[in-house]
Amino acid sequence: MLISVVVPFYDEEPVARTFCETLIATWNGGDQEPDLEWELICVNDGSRDRTLEILVSMQQCDPRIKVVDLSRNFNQQIAISAGLDFARGDAVIIMDADLQDPPEVLRDLIAKWQEGYHVVYAARRSREGESFFKKATSSLFYRLMRSLMRVDLPLDTGDFRLLDRQVVDVLCGMGERHRFMRGLSSWVGFRQTGVRFDRAERYAGETKYPLRSMLRIMLDAVTGFSYQPLYMASYLGFLLALLALVGILAVIVLRVSGINALGGQATTLVSVLLLGGVQLIFLGIIGAYLGRIYDEVKGRPLYIVRRTWGVDGPAHGSAARLVLNDEVRAPDGGVPEE
Ligand code: UDP
Ligand code: MG
Repeated sequence: MLISVVVPFYDEEPVARTFCETLIATWNGGDQEPDLEWELICVNDGSRDRTLEILVSMQQCDPRIKVVDLSRNFNQQIAISAGLDFARGDAVIIMDADLQDPPEVLRDLIAKWQEGYHVVYAARRSREGESFFKKATSSLFYRLMRSLMRVDLPLDTGDFRLLDRQVVDVLCGMGERHRFMRGLSSWVGFRQTGVRFDRAERYAGETKYPLRSMLRIMLDAVTGFSYQPLYMASYLGFLLALLALVGILAVIVLRVSGINALGGQATTLVSVLLLGGVQLIFLGIIGAYLGRIYDEVKGRPLYIVRRTWGVDGPAHGSAARLVLNDEVRAPDGGVPEE
């Protein structure tokens, strides 16, 4: 049985080496089953620091480590997708590079998988060392997502999860660009379960998810899984029409009875501004969906691989989602010449 561990790296110079060493120590740990083999797919998501060099040097010490270097920073979700394409394992585990997802949990994930589950997600029981603001916004994020989305998104789960080969094949077959992997891996169905773990503090370095990036992911998640925002325009339209009807009746009654009450520019101005504002908001919402449709229609590759170390080629991936230059297919190279 081969287990692939897929990890995206973006500017993770301070943690890259420790992460690989900790993971290898876990693999070599005594009570692992003997028939379990490992590979680690490190996807370098356009890091601007020495992350790639560290990964390549780790790869040269241990051939179970494979490195895929993307041509620029795509984003975490795309980097994970690239990793899934290159993974060959019977089960694939996705985790973060910053040791916030403790390697000890891998054993629990694999145990559940061996019980016959296809998706095993790791839900956070607690989170250490994160600011109150980060905890509050991310808690709000999960609750809002769940109420908007039509899929059953388990609460407080990140991308840390195990996927069976069957699920990975389904996910790799999906070409959509604005991918919210957590949503997709819930959406596919199969037998799903969770394990709980205590989320550690980031080992070193900084979070790559300030509020702005969180909002972007949230928008991808909502537009990817729900039409609710589009329908809201109709609901609000009905409500305002109803209000207008009452208004018209009121105006007629007031006019007939000779009371000169609803005069002046202020009433007109306020209602015009209100309606204009509401319309612009919904134009924006339609734009968000439209832009995503445009992105899909263009059909650009999901990611571009600059070079790989220790891999023969992707297990998955058609020309439409992946551009391989000749170097990728060539035998393994050494340290990048830069
Ligand atoms: N990451 C990535 N590309 C990006 C941003 C982040 O590959 O554009 C990776 C990052 O290297 C890390 C993981 O995604 O392995 C999670 O990032 P981070 O720990 O900053 O997120 P947080 O835990 O704060 O939500
Ligand atoms: Mg983190």
